[in-house]
Amino acid sequence: MQQTAINVVWLKRDLRWRDHAPLAAAAAAGLPVLVVYCFEPALLQHPDYTTRHWRFVYESLRELRVTLQQHGAELLVFQEEVVPVLNTLQQHFQLKNIFSHLEVGLELTFKRDKAVKQWCRANAVAWQEFGQDGVIRGQKHRRGWQAGLENHLQGPLIHYDPKRLQAPAIPAGLRSVADDSALPAVWRTPAANFQPGGESYAWRYLQSFFQERSRQYSKQLSKPALSRHSCSRLSPYLAYGNLSVRQVYQATLAQLQAGGDGFNLKNFKSRLYWRSHFLQKLESGHYLEHRAINPGLENLGRTQDEIRWQAFVQARTGYPMIDASLRCLAATGWVNFRMRAMLVSFATFTLWLDWKPVAQHLAGLFLDFEPGIHYAQIQMQAGLTGYNTLRVYNPNTQAEKHDPMGEFIHRWLPELRTVPAPWCHRPWQMTAIDEVFYQCAIGQDYPHPIVDFEQETRRHKDRYWAIRQSPEVRAALPELWRQFCMPGDVKKYQREEGRSAGEAAWSGG
Ligand SMILES: Cc1cc2nc3c(=O)[nH]c(=O)nc-3n(C[C@H](O)[C@H](O)[C@H](O)COP(=O)(O)OP(=O)(O)OC[C@H]3O[C@@H](n4cnc5c(N)ncnc54)[C@H](O)[C@@H]3O)c2cc1C
Repeated sequence: MQQTAINVVWLKRDLRWRDHAPLAAAAAAGLPVLVVYCFEPALLQHPDYTTRHWRFVYESLRELRVTLQQHGAELLVFQEEVVPVLNTLQQHFQLKNIFSHLEVGLELTFKRDKAVKQWCRANAVAWQEFGQDGVIRGQKHRRGWQAGLENHLQGPLIHYDPKRLQAPAIPAGLRSVADDSALPAVWRTPAANFQPGGESYAWRYLQSFFQERSRQYSKQLSKPALSRHSCSRLSPYLAYGNLSVRQVYQATLAQLQAGGDGFNLKNFKSRLYWRSHFLQKLESGHYLEHRAINPGLENLGRTQDEIRWQAFVQARTGYPMIDASLRCLAATGWVNFRMRAMLVSFATFTLWLDWKPVAQHLAGLFLDFEPGIHYAQIQMQAGLTGYNTLRVYNPNTQAEKHDPMGEFIHRWLPELRTVPAPWCHRPWQMTAIDEVFYQCAIGQDYPHPIVDFEQETRRHKDRYWAIRQSPEVRAALPELWRQFCMPGDVKKYQREEGRSAGEAAWSGG
């Protein structure tokens, strides 16, 4: 019997129906269409991913399915690797084209894409990939890159008629394989403290940011408690493509044109450029997930000291700002940029822990885990580039400056709730009488500091600096700048490198 010829739209980190080039291409191509998502076992097992991510994906798919069905389209969800799913589909239909977005992901997804490419070749199926972040596949330099990004962000949003995504008749056997009621119940159970996935929530966050929350954006960006309301909180929606960066960019321009708050909105808009800039870094150097970007900084002698590691992962380091940030992350999946950077600098410079397990642990906690941003940021904050000015955040100073009344610390560390500021910033400085008065015994109710911050950080900075000045580290810089940095930034780095080495490269706080 002649099989029905169809096209497939393969969803990845693009879980929306608007401004969606693969859906538009399928609508234009004329054949019946199946929209497919695969929960891939290899990714499910990857240490960077945890239940919170898959719940968000599931919620996004659930909404997308309803939207697509309203237009006669079908979304099939598999819990299987992509190539076997394509084989299954091929048993029921004649696949003509696969349309998808290009994914900037882990090595695992990069290799999977290669396998899909091979499968397509072997089965005479055409596969067309579309960019969605202004990222250029395989680009090994930044010449002209910024202009390309501008073109992408300012380009027309993609429109199509969703009624043209008619699904073919789906055999019962195939439907039962793609039955998502078999997905883990924990994904299908909403989690109260987490941002829910889906396009409609994404737009709600965007609108409330423009209408109200953005007014305090720049002022409160670094405040651990207040930033929860005044930052856009769009990161998981961008990471899983509930919104495209172009939609957000153009909506911001429209706000600016309508007389929106220029200072805050421009500050916000600059982050959208950073996003693509960081994604391009991982695209240009997939090894960032595994190795120091600067080979001379690969062997710094950081260790996996079990006691320090356990204190970090259990959020019991004895430094309230560190522990509160980690517990907040565990409970909600989000802390602001400054707290993320502080966590990495504390783990890698103060505790001198190997950066890779730290990166994985935080990836699993960040609801918005985006490999491109995450690994490039970790490399910077852990001092693995050899050219960025390094910032080692002092958690005590951060607490005093950005949480002066201890609101954030009290919210996430109940054992310190009875301890007012300034003692809750440095509880180990309480006298025995204070401890009784505030009903908090250090070493019992809340731990002693795991290490002496000043002493350990100084020791590790010295150790690090001796290696960073080595000829091997410096010799790698020109090639790194060429591959990964914007031409304007390179000039700055060259100037800094020319200056006498030493404290110029450090920034405290
Ligand atoms: C060690 C470390 C790891 C990080 N890992 C991630 C990650 O996995 N996923 C992620 O989305 N962000 C990551 N960030 C960047 C940043 O902390 C978050 O994007 C931001 O806190 C998200 O909140 P928001 O959406 O309210 O941001 P807003 O300030 O409202 O910014 C809007 C958007 O711009 C982008 N953006 C903001 N800051 C940055 C930045 N510094 N670099 C690149 N893009 C940025 C994000 O897409 C964000 O949603 C990381 C930062 C550090 C220091």
